[in-house]
Amino acid sequence: MAMRAFTCPDCRHLVTFDSTVCLHSQTALGFDWEARDVVALPDGGACGNRELIACNGVAGPGGLCASCALTRTRPADGDAEGIALFADAEGAKRRLLFELLELGLPVDGFREKEGGLAFDLLSSAAGPVTTGHADGVITLDLAEADPAHRERMRTQLDEPYRTVLGHMRHEVAHYYQPILAPEGSAALERCRALLGDDREAYSTAMDRHYEQGAPAGWESHFVSAYATMHPWEDWAETFAHYLHIRDVLQTAVAYGVSVTGPQVLAADAAPLYAFPAAAPDDLRAMLDTWLPLTYALNAINRSLGAQDLYPFVLAPDVIDKLAFIDELVRAA
Ligand SMILES: [Zn+2]
Ligand SMILES: [Zn+2]
Ligand SMILES: [Zn+2]
Repeated sequence: MAMRAFTCPDCRHLVTFDSTVCLHSQTALGFDWEARDVVALPDGGACGNRELIACNGVAGPGGLCASCALTRTRPADGDAEGIALFADAEGAKRRLLFELLELGLPVDGFREKEGGLAFDLLSSAAGPVTTGHADGVITLDLAEADPAHRERMRTQLDEPYRTVLGHMRHEVAHYYQPILAPEGSAALERCRALLGDDREAYSTAMDRHYEQGAPAGWESHFVSAYATMHPWEDWAETFAHYLHIRDVLQTAVAYGVSVTGPQVLAADAAPLYAFPAAAPDDLRAMLDTWLPLTYALNAINRSLGAQDLYPFVLAPDVIDKLAFIDELVRAA
């Protein structure tokens, strides 16, 4: 994940971002959100959700860790099915939060700030839940944490990729749009020039999308079919994609994965000249590392009989949009 390689503070063996205990030294571990590092769990420092959902966060002032504290609504303790899905959703949320903080994006929770970031993680077993964002509140239908449900939806909507983490990245993108490109800013002007005018009525755009689908040839301009619906969704899909790229590249560097390209270049192969840089200074430099890495990861997945790990193609227009988002994130 947007991830560094973490080690046990006691024995220095490799542990993961999610570890609650070192399998080598049996040291109880916690994730310290201030230091953004795995530490020995301090006495009385367990997040209030540690027993319930194996959250390894070190508790903040309210008894929950910084990630769990962003959750406003969640299933009741007695709802075993809901709690299992909630556990998976919180796992994805911790990864999301880690990356947002790594990128230096502002994260103000609803407990500290009016209109701040909040998550309603709701079980749709009782009634319909719509995943979305409004005024800082991200709602997630916890059924999305059930792999069977999610795959059914993915197939039904003909999507190449659908994950809980992907949903969270998409929805948090909506939260960041007015922060990074506020009303009256030059950034918003550029946003409109690049992604289209977001003053187009959303409901009309949505009706059109669900009646007619994405326009033919959308692949040359958009990162996904859903991004064609409205400029807000283009922003969210592109921003989420940007978070995918930054996270995987950070992980690749952390684990020492570098790809120089295939041994035999086919005549129609894309130029594979890149060598990973530890800290590429712009989006295009990052893509020089990114693309060969994705070709390799896809080839490895196919060797295991699995689908492409990265089922996307980045058209030049999409790269322009990603570069724009990269600029705004770096400035934030
Ligand atoms: Zn250890
Ligand atoms: Zn927690
Ligand atoms: Zn959206």
